[in-house]
Parts: sequence; structure tokens; C-alpha cells
Amino acid sequence: MWFRRDLRLLDNPALLEAIDAAKTAGDERVIPLFVIDPHLWDRAGAPRRAYLAESLRSLDASLGGQLLVLHGDPAVVLPALCSEVACTSVHVAADFGGYGSARDTSVEAALGDIPLVRTGSPYAVAPFRVVKGDGTAYRVYTPFWKVWERHGWREPAAAPANGTKYWKPTAGDGIPAVADLNIALPPAGEEAAWQRWELFRSARLSTYEELRNRPDVDGTSAMGHHLKWGEIHPRSMLAELGPDDVTFRKELCWREFYADVMARKPNSMNTSLDHRYDAVMRWTTGDEADELLLAWQEGRTGYPFVDAGMRQLRQTGWMHNRVRMVVASFLVKDLHLQWQFGAQTFMKWLIDADTASNSHGWQWTAGCGTDASPFYRVFNPIGQGIKFDPDGEYVRTYIPELRHLSGSAAHEPWEHSSGYAHGYPERIVDHKAEREAALADYAALKSGPKV
Ligand code: FAD
Repeated sequence: MWFRRDLRLLDNPALLEAIDAAKTAGDERVIPLFVIDPHLWDRAGAPRRAYLAESLRSLDASLGGQLLVLHGDPAVVLPALCSEVACTSVHVAADFGGYGSARDTSVEAALGDIPLVRTGSPYAVAPFRVVKGDGTAYRVYTPFWKVWERHGWREPAAAPANGTKYWKPTAGDGIPAVADLNIALPPAGEEAAWQRWELFRSARLSTYEELRNRPDVDGTSAMGHHLKWGEIHPRSMLAELGPDDVTFRKELCWREFYADVMARKPNSMNTSLDHRYDAVMRWTTGDEADELLLAWQEGRTGYPFVDAGMRQLRQTGWMHNRVRMVVASFLVKDLHLQWQFGAQTFMKWLIDADTASNSHGWQWTAGCGTDASPFYRVFNPIGQGIKFDPDGEYVRTYIPELRHLSGSAAHEPWEHSSGYAHGYPERIVDHKAEREAALADYAALKSGPKV
């Protein structure tokens, strides 16, 4: 059983298939394997590595210490292991990402006669299943959601039987040591995922619709990282939702919609779906672009809501969805930097970083993706802060230089004589002027030829 984005034992059809296949083969032993692939590991930032390492430790504990961890290219590592211990089959949950599906094709070829068996996926409804009557894909979310909900999903799979013989044939390379981070990551692993889910379901789900846009309260599920690593399957969560929990079900559906779009257009990880976009907009370049990007990454733009979001990301490995939209809009429409720079920063730092949700979250905000928020919708970084963090609590949590300002004053230090008394930087751009510049570009885009 080759674990990838399914670091759990419960509701794991691929694992059940591996156990069945081992029984059929007569030996009954299943090797639980995780491969540290340098292609993915080297790109991950410190918080993502630390979270994964912790999740692997948790999986290893639930497998009685039998998780085999190998380092290297899976297309080399897997065939070598299989021939060493005479494996009869390799079991996985299907990966629909661009890199993941190409990797699996080359692993399959390298395995030769040993079958790579794909069972299930990280989604309630796998990509390519939700289609229009004529078999083509939905390009916008709302009709996808309607058909997705009607399509439905299976009941959660049974737990593996007690006494399953997990076998670690060699010591392997082990879970990599990770840098000691000065940040508090949330607990990782299957048990932590279920604890968070039970807490959210019993105490927060009923107020989700009302509070989900408020970064100053713990109003969302914070299940993103658990879903990303498959410490829980979305089907297990959907099975516990009631008919009235529509808003939350819709959020889970966004994840599946973006996975579907990405599976059909793997290039959309780095390329704007609207091809005109990159060429027509006037992007900041050179040293100026480098400086602006760094100021944004380090939370030094002088716009408190934006800076609080970027500092939350660096300090916790997570950022609230409302703030993700605002910082993304700011990067593209106020700093005129291409969305790909922002997406790469998020991929490095977010513990829930997921290529489909991330690239399409960015493209949606930038106005070049599927179902895009219209480009002319430019988030006002001050107005959004005052609306969704009305008492300034969120801003003060992450920006110590503004803690002396009470209430919503923390959103507008320039309005107060002591606003900059503790070293908070002045605004690096003028939002009003940059908004006009972005809208002028957009007008040129609209009047240009369609592609
Ligand atoms: P909740 O509000 O509790 O939502 C429950 C779950 O629904 C989430 O865990 C997630 O799996 C799913 N979900 C909710 N909103 C979205 C959405 N807009 N798109 C896709 N799935 C959604 N989400 C990621 O999982 N990984 C990313 O790398 C990522 N990058 C993003 C980048 C940008 C620019 C934007 C605007 C959004 C991004 N999102 C991403 C979506 C969303 O911000 C996170 O899923 C959410 O903030 C995670 O917190 P939560 O679990 O508390 O969410």
C-alpha cells in the first residue's frame, strides 16, 4: 500500500483492496509505504515539511511502527522494493494532479508485470465524473455543484480488520528530520483530524454560515490540511452533515470542482485559463517587482489587513479564506504582480497547500480563471478589514506595531497621530490609484480579441 495523500486507516478503499489482495496472494502481509519524493519535498516550505513529518509519525504509530519510509524517485524506489520482497501488486488511491498522474504512469511502466491498482481518490466524486448531458465538462461552479450533489457519493468504507499483518521489510530511510520551527503547527494525523472535525461539527457548524468570513474568530473548520493529506476523507465528513448544512457542503464541492478543472487542464497550475490575460495586463517587472513581492511576502505593505494575513501565513502555516482573497487581489490588482508569484508563495508556506485549490483560488481572484470573480472586482483592503475584522482583533494579533490602536483604528493608522509610533510601515502604494490602473488594463483586455 503506497500512501500518498491518504494518510489514514479509516475509510480508505485502497488500503482495503491491498489487504484483500494480500489475502488472495496467500501471504496476507501488506507493506505500508510512503516515498519522500525530492520533486515534491524540495519545493515544500518548512511548515509543510514539518506538518507532513508529524502526520507520517502519526500514521506509523497507528500501523504499529510498520510504516516504511523510502526517499527517492518513486519510479526507481518502487520497482526496487517490489523485486527485493517479491510484491504481487501495488495499491494506491488515484491521483488526478498533473505531476501525480504523470508520476503514476511512469511508476506503472517501471513496475512491469506488477500491477499498480488504483482504488478510490481523495474526492467524494472523482474528477471527470460530473459532466454535462453531452459529456463535456462544466466550466462554472454553480451547475457543477448541482450535478455533483445529485450524483452523490458512496458510504464511508469499513475500517480494516483487526489483526491485519502490516510488514516493514527493511528499516528504510526514515521520516526526514525537519528544521525546528518557531511556530505552533496544529496537531497532525488521523486522530487529530477526527478530533477537529468532531469539535467543528458539534460546536461550530451551526454558526459556520454566519461566521465563516470572520478571520478574528475560530469560525471555519480548519480541516483544509487534514483533507490535503487525506487524514480524513471528505466522504466521511459528508456522511455526517445534515440536509441543512448546505453552505459547508458547497465549500467541500469547491475543492472537488477545482480538482476536476485541474485534472482536465493540468497546465492551469501555472497558466492563466484566459490566455489573453498575461499578455494584456501591464505587470510590474525588474527590481521594483522584487521589492514589492518581498514587502507583500513579509507583511510590510502598510495595509494592515493584508499584512496581518501574510504574517498569519508565515507564523502559523495557514490563512483565513477571506484574507486569502484580499491578499491575492492586492498582489495582482494593487501591486500588478502576476498571480503565479503569489500562488508559489502560498504553495511554499500553506500547510493545506493544494495545487488545484490554490492555483484556481488565485485565478478566481485574479479574474483569469474558470468561474472567475470579475476582474473589475478589486477588493478594498481597508474596507474588507473594517467589515470582517470590525474590532481590529485580527490585525492586532499579527501586527504588534499596531497594538496600541484600539478597535477598528488598527485598520487605518494613517488617521491617527500615533499611528506609526511603533514602526509600522507606511503604505507602499496608493490603493485608489492602483485600482484605476488595474481597471484601465482590464478595459483593454475586454476590448481585445477573444482567444
Ligand atoms: P472551511 O471554510 O472550513 O471549508 C471547508 C473545506 O472546504 C476546506 O477545508 C477546503 O477543503 C474546502 N474549501 C473551502 N473553500 C474552498 C475554496 N474556495 N476552494 C477550494 N476548496 C475550498 N484551499 C486549499 O485547500 N489549499 C490551497 O492551497 C488553497 N489556496 C487558496 C488560495 C487562494 C488565493 C484562495 C482565495 C483560496 C485558497 N484555498 C485553498 C481555499 C480556502 O481558502 C481554504 O480551503 C480554506 O481557507 C481552508 O480553511 P478551512 O479548512 O477552515 O475552510
